[in-house]
Amino acid sequence: MIDLRSDTITKPTKAMREAMYNAEVGDDVYGEDPSINKLEKLAAQMLGKEAALFVTSGTQGNQIAVLTHCRPGDEIILDEDAHIFFYEGGAISAFAGVQPRTIKSENGLLCPDKLKEAIRSDDIHFPDTSLICLENTHNRGGGAAIPPSHMEKLFTVANEHNIPVHLDGARLFNAAVALNEPLTEFTKYTTTVQICLSKGLGAPVGSILAGPKDFIQKARKWRKRLGGGLRQVGILGAAGLIALNDMVDRLAEDHESAKALAKGLDKHPQLSIANNVDTNIVLIDISKTGKHSTEFIDMLKKAEILAVPFGPSTVRFTTHYDLNKQQIEDAVQKILSFEF
Ligand SMILES: *Cc1c(COP(=O)(O)O)cnc(C)c1O
Repeated sequence: MIDLRSDTITKPTKAMREAMYNAEVGDDVYGEDPSINKLEKLAAQMLGKEAALFVTSGTQGNQIAVLTHCRPGDEIILDEDAHIFFYEGGAISAFAGVQPRTIKSENGLLCPDKLKEAIRSDDIHFPDTSLICLENTHNRGGGAAIPPSHMEKLFTVANEHNIPVHLDGARLFNAAVALNEPLTEFTKYTTTVQICLSKGLGAPVGSILAGPKDFIQKARKWRKRLGGGLRQVGILGAAGLIALNDMVDRLAEDHESAKALAKGLDKHPQLSIANNVDTNIVLIDISKTGKHSTEFIDMLKKAEILAVPFGPSTVRFTTHYDLNKQQIEDAVQKILSFEF
């Protein structure tokens, strides 16, 4: 199988498994796990924030951010394709009790003027706007890498209204590598940020939530309330350290693979590339094939290729380090031979 469903399917490397075996551990609920303490310190430093917290998943990191920033009845602004709105099971409403105010983005780019208009004024009828959520790279925007200059514009609007900004940076490292900018160029335009260790960086489990020290202290309590306070979790932290130290630069290879895949598939007369392929995601528009994306996915499966539907006429392919160049080439050749 050539598995292009997601970069989450990557398995821990040999170095990670060895580090996990040898990890120094303690009880992290007591703050005594040396590997996690090291990971949180390194992550905070890399992200240019005062403090960081290891969380079980990207979703948990985002939800703890919303819970910590907001009170029930508040409103948060995010784009209608944001992962936090689209793919987290309605958790912002179920847990934090906030209501989402969505705006439409263009390939993941939120318009600063639309953002400004969506912020509530001080009126007894209105909910309080207590958080703005951004996403980079933007998943439903086809892995779009949002430049720091654009984030700055949105952060300026947020600051004018004293509203914190949370960045869902599940794939922020991909943006940093693609645009050749340091991570801190992005995170300086956010109050808090969540990054995934378990996607392209290859760790088996975990995300990081980073932000101001007092915020992370409160977030730690929310994590405990949600049952996310883990004990000898340095076993996972050891893999996370390798993810941050050794796995970032190689993301460029995933981006090259995605470009090669897109270039190859574009030759099929009934397929067209629906995104810019900034990073490791390729969206294919299949409307000219007359097939529904689920039928197309079935055809792929028969050819031993896995991908995910992204709407009725769009299919998503994601590249990652568990794929080699030959597999990308094979996938292209197989799909080019499809007749509809
Ligand atoms: C994958 C992803 C998440 C959630 O991460 P999980 O670890 O799967 O919960 C959040 N935001 C974005 C943009 C993602 O791509």
